[in-house]
Amino acid sequence: MQTIPKTIIVFFSLLFISTLTSFELLHAQDDRFIVVLDAGHGGKDPGRPTKNGYTEKHIALKVVLELGKQLEKHPDIKVIYTRKTDVFLELHERSAIANKADADLFVSIHCNAHHTQAYGTETYVLGEKNSSRNMAVAKAENEVIFLEDDHHEHYVGFDPSSPESSIAIGIEQEIYIEQSIVLARKVEDNFVNKLKRKSRGIKQLSLWVLHNTYMPSVLIETGFITNKNEGAFLNSKNGQVKVATAIKDAIIDYKKELDLNVGNKISLSVDTDSVVKEDDPMIVEGVTFKVQIAASSRALEAKSYNFKGLPDISREKNGNIYKYFSGKTSDYNEARRLQNEAKLSGYSGAFIVAYKGNNKIDVADALKTESN
Ligand SMILES: [Zn+2]
Repeated sequence: MQTIPKTIIVFFSLLFISTLTSFELLHAQDDRFIVVLDAGHGGKDPGRPTKNGYTEKHIALKVVLELGKQLEKHPDIKVIYTRKTDVFLELHERSAIANKADADLFVSIHCNAHHTQAYGTETYVLGEKNSSRNMAVAKAENEVIFLEDDHHEHYVGFDPSSPESSIAIGIEQEIYIEQSIVLARKVEDNFVNKLKRKSRGIKQLSLWVLHNTYMPSVLIETGFITNKNEGAFLNSKNGQVKVATAIKDAIIDYKKELDLNVGNKISLSVDTDSVVKEDDPMIVEGVTFKVQIAASSRALEAKSYNFKGLPDISREKNGNIYKYFSGKTSDYNEARRLQNEAKLSGYSGAFIVAYKGNNKIDVADALKTESN
C-alpha cells in the first residue's frame, strides 16, 4: 500500500524535473543572440568582376565562414548563414531567412570594385534615397534583382538602376537604423584601429537586402578587389581571417553594449565606464560639447518629448540624415553626465561630439586644447 504512492511521487517528481530541465534548455536556446551572416552574391551571380581573378562571391563566402566559426565559439550566440556554399539566392530570400529566425543582427558581406585604384572599407546602413555619389554601390548590390526570374513580383515599383527610385522606411525600422549605425561605427573603427585600413565611412543607402530585414542590419564592403594590394589582401587567408576578426570583435562589443542596456538598471550602474561621478566642472574654453543620441532620415521636432525627456534637444542635417543631440555645454564632465543619462534612457550608442565655433572637432583634440 505504501510503495505505490511513493512510486507515483517519484515518477511525477522525475517527470516534473525533466519537464523543467527541457523547458529551461529550450528557453536558454531561445535566449541566444542570433546573428544572420549573409555572404553576398553566389551561384550565377559572381558579384564584382575583376581582372585580377578575384571573385567577390568567393571572398565574401570565405569571410563569412571564418566570421561564423569565430562567433560560434561564444555559447550565447547562434549563427545562421544565408548560404554556406556557392549557390544563388534571391535578395528577398536573404532577408526572409533573417526575419524567420527573428534574428538580432543581419550582417551582409561584400567586396567593392572601381575602375581606378580606389581602396578602403565602407559600411552601409539603410537609407531612404540613393545619392548620385553612392549610386554605383546601390546599383551593383541591387542589380542582382535582374537575375531573379520573378523580380517583377518581388520588387514592385523598384528600379535598382534608377537614382530616383527610393523605398520608404517604416517608422518601426528607424530604431533599427540607429542600432545599425552603432554597429557600423564599431566595424569601421576596428578596420582603422586594428587593421590600419582606410575607412571610407558609414553610409546610408537604399539597399533591398537591408530594407526588408526587421532587425539592425549592415552591409560591409570589405574593400576593393580591383585594387592591387587590397585585392590580394582580401583574397588571402590571412586577410580574410583579419577582416573576419575585426567584424567579430565589433559584433561582440555591440552585443555587450546591448546587454548592458536591456538588463536591469543595477547592472548599468555598476558599469564603471559609463558611470559619471559628480566631478568638478571641466570647462574647455571655446569648445561646445553635445551628446549625439540618434541619427535618422526622419525629421523629428527637436523636442524633449520625442527623445524620452532628455534635455536641450537640437537637430542637425548632414546629407540625408538628421542627427539629434542632447545638451550644449563647454563643461566636458557635464557632457559625460548627459551621455550617461542618454544611455540610461535607452540610447545605448550615445556619444559626445565637440565643436569649435561651427566646426566639428575630435573630442580628444578638444580635451588636448584644455591641457595646453
Ligand atoms: Zn556585392
